Amino acid sequence: MRATVLHRPRDIRCEEIADPKILFPTDAIIKLSATCICGSDLWPYRGLQEMNGPMHMGHEYCGIVVEVGGEVRTVRPGQFVVGSFCISDNTCPHCQFGFQSSCVHREFMSGAQAPYARVPLADGTLVPTSDVPSNELIPHFLATSDVLGTGWYAADAANVREGSTVVVVGDGAVGLMGVLAAKEMGAERIIAMSRHKTRQELARGYGATDIVAERGDDGVARVLELTKGVGADAVLECVGTQESMSQALACTRPGGTVGFVGVPHGVTLDGQQLFFGQKRMLGGPAPVRRFLPDLMDRVLKGGIKPGKVFDLELPLAEVADGYRAMDERRAIKVLLRV
Ligand SMILES: [Zn+2]
Repeated sequence: MRATVLHRPRDIRCEEIADPKILFPTDAIIKLSATCICGSDLWPYRGLQEMNGPMHMGHEYCGIVVEVGGEVRTVRPGQFVVGSFCISDNTCPHCQFGFQSSCVHREFMSGAQAPYARVPLADGTLVPTSDVPSNELIPHFLATSDVLGTGWYAADAANVREGSTVVVVGDGAVGLMGVLAAKEMGAERIIAMSRHKTRQELARGYGATDIVAERGDDGVARVLELTKGVGADAVLECVGTQESMSQALACTRPGGTVGFVGVPHGVTLDGQQLFFGQKRMLGGPAPVRRFLPDLMDRVLKGGIKPGKVFDLELPLAEVADGYRAMDERRAIKVLLRV
C-alpha cells in the first residue's frame, strides 16, 4: 500500500510500504474511511522532535474492520469503528479510573495516514457503531478520534459546568473543539483568544460569546476586564508554549481550573506563583477512550458537527501539500481521503 512516511524534517512522502498485518492476537486491521493531519504531527515535521529513523505518520482514524486477531472479542470484520490515538486495554486500574491515556499498556497509535492500519489492543481501544454511518458523517466521526476528544478533555479537566465562564487559549483545531465542548457542557460565557478572522468565525459558530485578539499581558488584561476583574472559572490551554500557559494561569480565578492539553515545549512553572495563585490544574494526553461512546453518539444524532474544523481536503497522495498548508497556517486541519 502507499502510506505516509516522514524521512527527515520537511521530507514527507506518500510511498509504497508493506501492508500492515496482525502481529498479536489482540490486534485488528482496519481499512481507513478517512484520516487527517494533527497539529502534533508538525513537531517532528518541523524538526522539533527527535526521530529514530523514518516515521510512519498518523494517529487519528476511523474505518471498517477487515481482520481481527484470535483473542479479539468486541469488534468483528465489517464493523465501523473509531479508536483513540492512545492504545489502551480499558481494563487496568488507570483505565477503570477514566485515564486510558495512562493505561499500563499504553502505546501511541501510528501509521494511520494510510489506507490500512493495525490497531493494537483492539478490544480496549476501538468503539464500534451499530451500523456503518453515511459518508457525510465520516469527518465528524474522524474528529472524535483525537481533536474533539482532546478539546473535550480540556473542558472536562478544566471543570466546565453549567453557567461557567470559560477562556480558551489557542485557536487551532483543538482550541476550536474546546469551544464546542464548553458550549455542550453548558458554559454561559466562552471567551476565545484568537487573532485570525476565519478562526474567530468558526469559534463563534461553535459557541464563543467573546473574542480576545490580544495576547500575553494585554490578553490577560482584556479577559480580566471582560470578567469584572475576577478571571475565568475554567481555562482551556490548547497550545503548549510558555506564553500560552502563563496566559492561561493568569486568566484563571482563584479556585478555578486550567485544563492543559497543548503538549508543553519549554514550559516551566513557578512554585510560589502556583502556591499563592490557588489554581487547579489537570492536563496531559486526553483519555479519549473515556469520551468516545458519548461523542460518537452525539455525532450520530447530529447534535455536534466537529468535522467543520477540516477546512482542507486532499487525497492521501498529496499528503505533503497538507503538511505544508498546516505548517504555514493556511489550513486549520487537513482531512486526507484514502
Ligand atoms: Zn489500561
